[in-house]
Amino acid sequence: MSQTEPKRHFISAIIDEDIRNNKNEGRVKTRFPPEPNGYLHIGHAKSICLNFGLAAQYHGLCNLRFDDTNPETEEAVYVESIKEDVRWLGFDWEDREFYASDYFDRLYLFAVDLIKKGKAYVCDLNADEVSEQRGTLTQPGRESPHRNRSVEESLDLFLRMRAGEFPDGSKTLRARIDMSHPNLLMRDPVLYRIRRAHHYRTADEWLIYPTYDWAHGQSDSLEGITHSICTLEFEVHRPLYDWMLDHLGIHHPRQIEFARLSVSHTVLSKRKLLELVKEGRVSGWDDPRMPTITGLRRRGYTPASIRTFCDLIGVAKVNSIVDMALLEDCVREDLNRYVPRVMGVLRPLRVVIVNYPEDKIEELEAVNNPENAGMGTRNVPFSRVLYIEREDFMEDPPKKFFRLAPGREVRLRYAYFIKCVEVIKDPRSGEITELRCTYDPATRGGDSPDGRKVKATLHWVSAAHAVPAEVRLYDTLFTKRDAGEVEEGSDWKANLNPKSLEALTECRVEPSLRDAPPGSRWQFERLGYFCVDTKDSKPGHPVFNRTVTLHDPWANIRKAGRENE
Ligand code: ATP
Ligand code: MG
Repeated sequence: MSQTEPKRHFISAIIDEDIRNNKNEGRVKTRFPPEPNGYLHIGHAKSICLNFGLAAQYHGLCNLRFDDTNPETEEAVYVESIKEDVRWLGFDWEDREFYASDYFDRLYLFAVDLIKKGKAYVCDLNADEVSEQRGTLTQPGRESPHRNRSVEESLDLFLRMRAGEFPDGSKTLRARIDMSHPNLLMRDPVLYRIRRAHHYRTADEWLIYPTYDWAHGQSDSLEGITHSICTLEFEVHRPLYDWMLDHLGIHHPRQIEFARLSVSHTVLSKRKLLELVKEGRVSGWDDPRMPTITGLRRRGYTPASIRTFCDLIGVAKVNSIVDMALLEDCVREDLNRYVPRVMGVLRPLRVVIVNYPEDKIEELEAVNNPENAGMGTRNVPFSRVLYIEREDFMEDPPKKFFRLAPGREVRLRYAYFIKCVEVIKDPRSGEITELRCTYDPATRGGDSPDGRKVKATLHWVSAAHAVPAEVRLYDTLFTKRDAGEVEEGSDWKANLNPKSLEALTECRVEPSLRDAPPGSRWQFERLGYFCVDTKDSKPGHPVFNRTVTLHDPWANIRKAGRENE
């Protein structure tokens, strides 16, 4: 599953063809153009991997450009988080960090040029009137009464719009295209609006701001982008971008649209994610349940696993939902190779080994990673009082339950066979508070010399040595598979999963984890992969996030696929 050969897809086929035709002298230049109005999510990762990946593959360059034309929603903290996330994913834009706001002067001059060419005019209609006159898919729009203003008058008014002579929203600059064009975006779209808003970079320098549609294509052109890769919803904008570039007569990037990524049981829209943060439905952008890069990082995902995922899902022209299980499988496969195994008990049940000496402590050798002998071994202490997992014992087990039960023998990993001889309960509640067991000293290391078999191997910790810990288990953020696809106007938050977080505060982990560094990753035997929380963990009291369980449904699906080949 690792990345070896770059994947072929329709975009690389287009680029190959352009190179064959010596278009742009064979150069390839792409860009990742986020708007700094939120944190990046896994959908953006797809775009990042694609744009930076293609640039690397064709020995070209990829720019990082902030498309920051919306002063009300953009902030410098988002710029910083975006840079951190792109870097963390493993990509480098070197000195090519650009901002659409750095082009405001040039975009203004482009607009003046269009006016002079008779291709843009100042319109006095307000936003409601403009949209009311736009028409519909079946009805043509109506022409603005100001559409035939002279070039001189529009130039004068545009200058005065910039100078602050008119109130917000009272005038716009519009392209002069065709009010009966079948594509509604071509019906004299707005290029500039008046807004007295403070911009996080240009401060109060500008009173007029370009629309996204006006800024985007021209910014690509100014940067000499050869292949402007964007998501499918921009397909209908392409004729507009073509029109603008052609009338300005400037470098014309080739726009290519691909299907945006949707992942099951989550939403990938910054607006919705921001709403979850603002309403306190999650603890922040970096809540480990969030599909944001910062959330995935805190959860324990690795850059390599996200890159592999983006490579595996491919690039298509049709929208579809990718199963979250695929992302989980990618991180499992990555972590499996190098993450050390340890033992931790999530819901401890006290076990007293009645025939083990009171004051004896043994150091037993445990393997750090059976997949990687080079990772060596460590010692774990064993003593008379242990904890095992509460759910590994049943007093009255059903047929298929092979773990510990009264009178039954099981193996403790790296230790001994033990047999349950007595169950102690709280006399009032009836709750099981302790098990009394015997151990067989001849089974040290977990093997029986007489060939006796047991059907289960349990993880455990020594009560006196174990470290108290908190462990956070996660389920999907939403209960609905297509949580991101709910109709406009319906309550998408109704599908939030009330059980997406389970915090277990009474856990006990082996002593080697006492000072596990924040961000370090571990496999708890039988329980999954865990990452030490970077915010809440403290020396002596670690907090672990479960990245993913060990359960791997995809392995079976892939195996079945191979068998069918
Ligand atoms: P959102 O819908 O989450 O607000 P956006 O498209 O408005 O996303 P931008 O900051 O404009 O966010 O996105 C930057 C780049 O990332 C764009 O080129 C966009 O096409 C791409 N992108 C955003 N979401 C996805 C996605 N789900 N799958 C693939 N690419 C995406
Ligand atoms: Mg966008």
